[in-house]
Parts: sequence; C-alpha cells; structure tokens
Amino acid sequence: MCNSCDPLLVNNGNNLPRRKFLALLAATLSLPALTRAAEKGAPPKPQNVISPDAALDRLMKGNNRYVRGTMLRHDFAADRAALARGQNPFASILSCADSRIGPEYAFDAGRGDIFVCRIAGNFANPEMIASLEYSVAVLNSPLIFVLGHQACGAVDSTIKQVKDGASFPGHIPSLTEALTPAVQAVANQPGDLLVNAIKENVVLTIQKLQTAEPILSEAVNQKKVKVVGGVYNLKTGKVELVSP
Ligand SMILES: [Zn+2]
Repeated sequence: MCNSCDPLLVNNGNNLPRRKFLALLAATLSLPALTRAAEKGAPPKPQNVISPDAALDRLMKGNNRYVRGTMLRHDFAADRAALARGQNPFASILSCADSRIGPEYAFDAGRGDIFVCRIAGNFANPEMIASLEYSVAVLNSPLIFVLGHQACGAVDSTIKQVKDGASFPGHIPSLTEALTPAVQAVANQPGDLLVNAIKENVVLTIQKLQTAEPILSEAVNQKKVKVVGGVYNLKTGKVELVSP
C-alpha cells in the first residue's frame, strides 16, 4: 500500500505523518484515549469517508427526507459494536441549542454520522472552535455546517439590546455580545432585521471558522474540509443554504 492510501499516513497539512500529528494533537489537547481510538484500524463507518462536496450532498438529501417525512430507519443496535471502537462522522454541525431544531433529525443522520456542537445563537467561541478542530484534525470530518434557524431567540435578544437598549440577567449578555456584530452589520439593510441578522450570523460564523488558525484554516486551504451553512425553516423543516 502506498503512503497516500494509508489512512494513518495521509499528510495532514502540517507536513507530518498523520500518526505523529495525532500524537502531537493528543499531547496538546490531552485527549490520548480518544485519539488512540481514532488511530485504530479502519474507520468504523467506511461509508462516511467521503469528500466535502459528497458530505454536503448527503446532508441535504437527509434534510429532504426529513421535510418529506420519509426518514430512514436508523438501526442503532447494528452500529454499536463498530462505534464502540471509534468514530468518523461525515459532517460536523455548529447548531443553535434551540429545542426545535435537532440536527440529527433535520439531516436524518444516524449515530456516528454527525459531530454536533450546540450553543444558543450558533456562534463560534473558542470552545466551539476547539471542538470542531478536534472533529476535523482527529476524526477527519470533511464538512463543517453552521446551522442557524428562523426566529432565533438569541439573535432576537441581541436586536433588542442593540436597538432598544434592553439588558439581560446572568450570563446572557455573553451571548448577545457575541451576536452583536451580526446585528450591527445588517442594521441598516432593507427587509426584516431578524431574518437578515440570522443569515448574517451564519455568514460571519462560516468566515470565522474558515480563517480560524492554525488547524481549520489549514484544513480549508488544503481542501480537506469545507465550511458552509444554512438556515432552518421552523415551519417546513427545510434547511436553506446561505452563501457567504
Ligand atoms: Zn436560536
């Protein structure tokens, strides 16, 4: 087998054999057990070893099934043995925490298929970026999808703060502070401010992830991963892609 065919030796963009890169990453992130699991043999779900474009196509086909009500039957029992030894999701999702979304439902995905990070307002703070770095660098996820949604309460609260001077208790201001750039960017645009800000937040988050150094930016430049996004329609369940 040539080096380029060996999943343990494929170059990772840092001019290091993947095994060494994983060891370095494990030492840095203190994730030795998880990384050892990722190193073992063949990926548990070979059907998830696909290109970024194929991953996006698969996600959107899953969303179409969800919209039509023709979801697949996911046999979790059949996956358990393979997934006990590792994971290789075909996509990573950065989604709002809103209880009406459910990325596994929205994309009709099975266990071990999507690596989901959720936070109200679906923005990329350092912990979210670190989680996505792990999914890309260690688990080889070929796609990051930023999933916003209609009527997002976190974005709406930010609008109330920016436009009306509203203030919020507890730690909620940390959310509205993170979402303020998206609201300010579209404050003077025609149309519905909440709709525009939700879309802008997805765009800004895509751009932030694409340029997050050193791991995600490198993976994007090497075309190992694609970062895209969309907005979930609460009434239809359809995810509309957003172009940066
Ligand atoms: Zn939301």
